[in-house]
Amino acid sequence: MGKSQDCIFCKIAAGQIPAALLIETDDLVSFMDIMPVNHGHCLVVPRRHAATLTDLTEEEARACMGAIWQLAPAVVKATDGEGFNVLQNNGSCAGQAVDHVHFHIIPRRADDGWRFGWRKGSYAEGEMQKLQARIKGLL
Ligand code: AMP
Ligand code: ZN
Repeated sequence: MGKSQDCIFCKIAAGQIPAALLIETDDLVSFMDIMPVNHGHCLVVPRRHAATLTDLTEEEARACMGAIWQLAPAVVKATDGEGFNVLQNNGSCAGQAVDHVHFHIIPRRADDGWRFGWRKGSYAEGEMQKLQARIKGLL
């Protein structure tokens, strides 16, 4: 397994520091987040050290999504939740604090008092289509 010496999530995956584990497979670990947005907030973390989502292999990414799919209903049920968010931050500009790729599962309730400042932007005429073509050209 690739491992970064000072990485806290590598240390958790290697069992060198404690965590409240939920899932352990060859590909990944999942554990409770120690500073939860809501109680039950947990993380899915590939074992191999990789900084961001696109540094994962497709297989690793698929394994993470499989664990999220498996975990989310249990987290929601255990916390009497009404829904959940799956969040994944890439880069400090996007709020990534731990430099080892991870997925947040956060159980939600309508009355939990946590709201995103979701911006509703807009495009000038033709701008969206220009960007659409640019993105498609890069796929
Ligand atoms: P992010 O901002 O996406 O990088 O999120 C990092 C998350 O890791 C935060 O929600 C932290 O609360 C969580 N975290 C940091 N250290 C630990 C740890 N030792 N055990 C569990 N969760 C942690
Ligand atoms: Zn790491």
